[in-house]
Amino acid sequence: MSTIDGGPDDERPRRRPAPAKPAVLRKRAVRRPERQERRFTGLGVCSGVAVGPVAFAAEAPASATVRRLQASEVEPELRRLDEAVQRSVRQLEKLKARLAFLSEDSQAEIAPLLDAYRQMLGPSRLLRHAARRIAEDQLNAEAAVSEEAEALAQRFATRGSGSGGPDAEDAASASRQAEEVREIGRRLVRNLTRAPFRSFAALPVGCILVTEQLRPADAALIDPSRIAAVVTDEGGTSDHTAIMLRALGIPSVLGVTGFTAQAGAQAGAQAGAPVQAGARAPVQVVVDGEAGLVTLDPSAVTLEAAHRAVVARAGERQRLGRLRRLPARLSGGEAVELQANLELPAELPLIAQAGAAGIGLLRTEFLFINADELPDEAVQAEAYRGVVEAMGGDCVTIRLLDWGSEKQSEAMAGFLAPGDLNPALGLRGLRLLLRHPSVMETQLAAILRVSGDAPVRIMLPMVTTLAELRAAREIYERVGRRLRRRGVRLPEKLPPLGIMIETPAAALGAETLALEAEFLAIGTNDLAMYTLATDRASTDVSALYDPLHPAVLRLIGQTTDAALRLRRPVSLCGEIAGSPLVVPLLMGMGLRSFSMNASAIPRVKQVVRQASLDECRRLARRVLEESDPGQIAQLLRAFAAR
Ligand code: PEP
Ligand code: MG
Repeated sequence: MSTIDGGPDDERPRRRPAPAKPAVLRKRAVRRPERQERRFTGLGVCSGVAVGPVAFAAEAPASATVRRLQASEVEPELRRLDEAVQRSVRQLEKLKARLAFLSEDSQAEIAPLLDAYRQMLGPSRLLRHAARRIAEDQLNAEAAVSEEAEALAQRFATRGSGSGGPDAEDAASASRQAEEVREIGRRLVRNLTRAPFRSFAALPVGCILVTEQLRPADAALIDPSRIAAVVTDEGGTSDHTAIMLRALGIPSVLGVTGFTAQAGAQAGAQAGAPVQAGARAPVQVVVDGEAGLVTLDPSAVTLEAAHRAVVARAGERQRLGRLRRLPARLSGGEAVELQANLELPAELPLIAQAGAAGIGLLRTEFLFINADELPDEAVQAEAYRGVVEAMGGDCVTIRLLDWGSEKQSEAMAGFLAPGDLNPALGLRGLRLLLRHPSVMETQLAAILRVSGDAPVRIMLPMVTTLAELRAAREIYERVGRRLRRRGVRLPEKLPPLGIMIETPAAALGAETLALEAEFLAIGTNDLAMYTLATDRASTDVSALYDPLHPAVLRLIGQTTDAALRLRRPVSLCGEIAGSPLVVPLLMGMGLRSFSMNASAIPRVKQVVRQASLDECRRLARRVLEESDPGQIAQLLRAFAAR
C-alpha cells in the first residue's frame, strides 16, 4: 500500500467528472494493459492518491447477540423481521433504480446480483427458516437470521466442494451463492439492529474501505492510520461524511454508483472458492480523490502512475509546509485571517502544523455523535478546555450543537421528531436547542466555564429569525448569571455570541440580524443546500449542488456587505473557504476571514500571498455579472492560471 495524505482540495468541490483516460494511458497507448482494469468516476471529496486492497465494511456485528424470547415476544419479533425485510427490499430497489446510470456491461453484471438478493427477500428458504426459529425456538430475529444464513451458506459451500469432484465453474457458482446468502443475512441483521455505527477496527492496515454508505457517525470512527482511502456508492461533496473524511485527510471518492457490487463481484470471481463471512478475496484498487476516479484491479501502468502521483504529492506537501510561518497577506500587504474548522480532537496536531490562526468553527457534534447518552457539563467543559488549551491563546469559535438533518445519534434519538419526512427542514440546529433548552444550557455553561482562560466565541447554528437569536441570547445571559451566582470566574463581558448564516432567510435578513449578533459566519454548505433546494448529501442531485451558483453568491455578497456596513466581524466557514480557486473571488467580495479544513490552509495561503486586492475585486465584478455557473467556474480557473 502506498498513500499520501489527502491534502487540501485545490479546486471547488468537484462535480462528477466525465470518464477520462488518464494521461499516462494515452502516452503509452501502444502498450496493452495486461489486465482488464475498470475505471469508475464519482465525487472526489478529499484529494490524494492511494493504492491498496479493497476491504468491505463489516456492516453488521460479526455475530448477532443470541436472546431467548418470552412467548409474548414472538409475534412482535416476527413483525420486526418483516419490517427489516421491507427496509432491505426498499434499499435494493433504490440500488436497482441507480443501475440506469451505469454502463450496459456494468448493468449486466450487477442486475442479476441484485435480483438474487431480492429473491431471497421474497418467500425464500432463508426467511421461512428464520421465521420458524423465531416462532418455534423463541430465538431473537438477529440470531435467527444470522444462524440460518450461515447454515444455508455452508450448505451451498459443501455442495460446491462435494464428493463428486465438481468442476471449477460449479465451485465458483456455489461460492457465489454462499456469499450472496451471507450478504443478505448481513443486510437483514443491519436493518434489524439499526446499529448506530460500524466497527472498522478489524480491517487490515492500508486497506481501501468500500461501502454503500458511510454515515458521519461511521466516518468519525475511522482511524486514518489504518484506512488508506474510502469509496462509497452514496454521498455528496459537502455532506458531513465528506467533511469528516477531509478532516481526517483520507483520499475519498463518494457517490460511485454501483461500486460496492462491482468490487464484490470481482472479489467473488477472484476467490473461486468459499470465503468466510464478512471477508472476501482482496482486490486491488487505486483511488484518486482529486480526479474522483477509482480503478478496480489496476493494470501495471496505472499502478506505476499512481505511485508517481504519491511521490509528487509528498514533494508538494513539503514545499507548502514552508509557508507555515509566513503571514497570510495579499501582495499589497492586506491581512487575511485563515483559521481551521475542527470536527474531531484528533485534528488538533494537524491544525498546529498547518499554522491556523485559531479555530473559526468548532463543530461540537463529535461529543454527541457516537454517544449513548448526552455528555454532561463537566465532560463537555473538559473537551472544550482541551481544545482551547491546545490553541495556546488563539481564538476558538465554538458552535452550539447542530443536530438533526443527516446526523444521527443514540444520545439525541429522543429529541428528534420520529419519522420526520424532511429532517433538514425540521427540528435542526438552533430550533432543536430552543425546543430543548436544557441541552443548550448545559452546553453554554460548559463553554462559559472555559471562557475565563482564553478567547472564546459562541456561535448559533441554523438561525432563521431574529426571534430565535433573541431567545438564545436570553438563555445565554441567564446561564451566565447563574454561573456567576455560583462563583464561577467568568470574563466581565460574556464571550461574543454570533450566528451562522446558512439559510436564505438569514442571508437576506443579515442586516437586521447583525444589529444583535456580535459576529457572522457564512456557512455555504447549508446555504447552498437551502438556496438551491438540493440535498448536500444526495448523490442523485449532486450535479445541482453548487455553492458558486449565482444565487448563492448573491446571498454571500449581501451578507458580507451588511456585516461590513455595520462593522460586524464576518467570516466564511463552508467548504469553499478551503478552495484556492474560490478564495480570490471571496476576497474580491470583501471577505478577509476564512475557516477551513486544516490541511487546506497552506494552499489557500499560497494563493492569498500571490494575489492583489485589485485583481481579486476585478474577478469578483466579472463573476457577479455572470448568470451561468459553468462560466463562473471557467473564470475562476482562468484566474488561477493567470
Ligand atoms: C455550513 O453549513 O457551511 C457549515 C459550515 O456547517 P456544517 O457543514 O457543519 O453544516
Ligand atoms: Mg451548516
